[in-house]
Amino acid sequence: MNISQKIQSVSASPTLAIDAKYKEMKAQGVDVVGFGAGEPDFETPQNIKDAAIKAINDGLTRYTPASGTLDLRKAVAEKFKNENGLCYEPTQIIISNGAKHSLVNALMALLNPGEEVIIPAPFWVSYIEMIKIADGVPHIIETSEENNFKFTPNQLEEAINEKTKALILNSPSNPTGMVYTKEELEEIANICVKHDIYVISDEIYEKLIYEGEHISIGSLNDEIMKRTITINGVSKSYAMTGWRIGFAAAPAHIAKAMANLQSHAASNPNSIAQAATIEALKGPQDEVEKMRLVFAQRRINMCKRINSIDGVSCKEPQGAFYIMMNITKLFGRSFYGQVIDSSDKFAEVFLENAKVAVVPGSGFGADGYVRWSYATSEENINEGLNRLEEFLKHEDK
Ligand code: PMP
Ligand code: GLU
Repeated sequence: MNISQKIQSVSASPTLAIDAKYKEMKAQGVDVVGFGAGEPDFETPQNIKDAAIKAINDGLTRYTPASGTLDLRKAVAEKFKNENGLCYEPTQIIISNGAKHSLVNALMALLNPGEEVIIPAPFWVSYIEMIKIADGVPHIIETSEENNFKFTPNQLEEAINEKTKALILNSPSNPTGMVYTKEELEEIANICVKHDIYVISDEIYEKLIYEGEHISIGSLNDEIMKRTITINGVSKSYAMTGWRIGFAAAPAHIAKAMANLQSHAASNPNSIAQAATIEALKGPQDEVEKMRLVFAQRRINMCKRINSIDGVSCKEPQGAFYIMMNITKLFGRSFYGQVIDSSDKFAEVFLENAKVAVVPGSGFGADGYVRWSYATSEENINEGLNRLEEFLKHEDK
């Protein structure tokens, strides 16, 4: 018997697939270097771990309200108010199993079949599939490296039609690391208000900014606030990827719909991780800053090195922990007996021969690129780039 046609059309996450392949090779004893999944290589700070252990010992091991404990929702509301200038009531906040889950909830709550969601490319791999899962239609706007991978107000205006329901904005961006300025966000906000479309603002990399500042689009004025769903979480900022806590804040009627959906599909996220997240948000923040400074330095070293290698190049990202390496100059050339004609091909031949795992740009809607994550040690970064240099010497004549 066939499975659902809709789910048949949904592909597996390429970032997680590359990471799984890397881990499998490593387990088999292959000397492979991984730049796949964007996951901080740091340990979760000790105060957060201690809070989780305390939560277990205090017996916080039962169901919580499906949208998360009131204490955590209050802590998130305070965070949004103090750090982002966003005024949400705890009832407008839903705690979920990672920001991924928050995004799916938001799209499912918003979309009717056939409604369009605008996503600028390069985009994070999961947006397209999430929109499809929610019966929507992705509408892609292309950006260019020359324009720092940013779309223009004109492009947004042109993409909007009667079926448009929302725009997904991701600043700082995965995979490009670009950060929209306040002025740019104001222009985007004006267009969204004028056409009455929602903005799903994925701010998961908010704390990992090396140039410029993070502005939450919802904080710009009341009209855009009414149309914004703000998504964030602790995976990246607090090195808590495995704990699976993300959060969404939305206008009351949307928050209610998301909460209803989650109450049936998942109930509450892990009670112990919720308690630990309160400590992450309210406890000392110095570990976050330490990690940011390490990422900042890796970013500079890695970019410099890539740009010193013939045939590849990159722009210095302003945030997150990814570098999009331009490989278009390698297209049509042959290495280890294989012609490079796509980012998938490059990633495959590079992994096979140099034993370095990078994510092909195809999944991000950017086939001329591969993504390197610098959420890995300086030692790995040096080794990976040494291997890249060596790999490129093996061009078939
Ligand atoms: N948004 C973006 C842009 C991401 O890169 C990720 C990566 N994990 C997420 C959301 C989801 O994060 P999580 O589910 O771990 O909170
Ligand atoms: N968001 C990270 C990435 O892009 C983690 C993997 C995933 O969730 O897709 O690599």
